[in-house]
Amino acid sequence: MKDPFIHQLTIPTPFAVGDVHTYVLIGDAVTLVDTGPDTAEGKEVLITKLKEIGLQPEDIDQVVLTHHHPDHAGLSEFFSGARLYAHKDGERFLTRSASFMQLHDFFYTEFFKQAGLPEHYFILIEKMKETLKAMGRRPADSYLSEGDLIPGHGDWKVMESHGHSQGHISLVHESSAVIGGDLLIQHISSNPLIEPPFGINQPRPIPQLQYNESLSKLAALHPDVVYPGHGTPVYQASELITERLKKQHERALYVKSLIQNEETTAFEICKQLFPKIYKKQLGLTLSETMGQLDYLMAIGEIKAADMKGPAIIYRAESGVKL
Ligand SMILES: [Zn+2]
Repeated sequence: MKDPFIHQLTIPTPFAVGDVHTYVLIGDAVTLVDTGPDTAEGKEVLITKLKEIGLQPEDIDQVVLTHHHPDHAGLSEFFSGARLYAHKDGERFLTRSASFMQLHDFFYTEFFKQAGLPEHYFILIEKMKETLKAMGRRPADSYLSEGDLIPGHGDWKVMESHGHSQGHISLVHESSAVIGGDLLIQHISSNPLIEPPFGINQPRPIPQLQYNESLSKLAALHPDVVYPGHGTPVYQASELITERLKKQHERALYVKSLIQNEETTAFEICKQLFPKIYKKQLGLTLSETMGQLDYLMAIGEIKAADMKGPAIIYRAESGVKL
């Protein structure tokens, strides 16, 4: 690694994404960026890798979470002696209060109805809660937001990069290296996951638009290297981002062509986009589909035209704007 003060520790996960990278920064504080998953193997490998760089778990002064997903935040409780830093928008998933879980269930039930999901798929809400259990349960000691310096590391700044999750942050070094969490991954495109709103009467966040904005923000930094949560370091970030944004736009126009053929629901489009995996990966594929629909709505290519029971029917606007 170019920066001698970063150590990359790679931890196995039981999730489809495979290994996750965590990072140790040595400055005036010893900081672990992301913890890896809450599994026996994950913990063992993390302890071994810390040892290889001369550290015990007790030597970690603080943990910074790029985001709350279980492959990144699972072991936050294990580092109970360290201060925990996270963005406030991700904390609701770390603490999982009764009121948040109520909102969670209510929101996804309504969201699935609007997407046109048949009721026998609603069991997914319970399955999603199983995944939440792997996130560890610990509130942040302090919040980090846009522009904050990482305590003990005055050369690292926080960049908010919402989209893959709410409250996703990246860490930007003054040398223009970036620790990017799941913002930009070389071998796969990050999924903009649908999350509940921040209050019962609030609109839900629109993660595809947030994600595109975060990618553009990253590109504008012209980073030398992005150290990701998964896969190899990204050295040509701006080129990769241009390609990702272009592909997403083309994908969205393909979705519009499906709607031009037949006005329909999000779930029907999801089935056409992911005929082989939608049943197994319903949460991810529906999020990806909604991302394209949200994007098309935002650029005026489609509109929510009608209702079929509680489900929203999308209609393409005439003309193609490229
Ligand atoms: Zn991840």
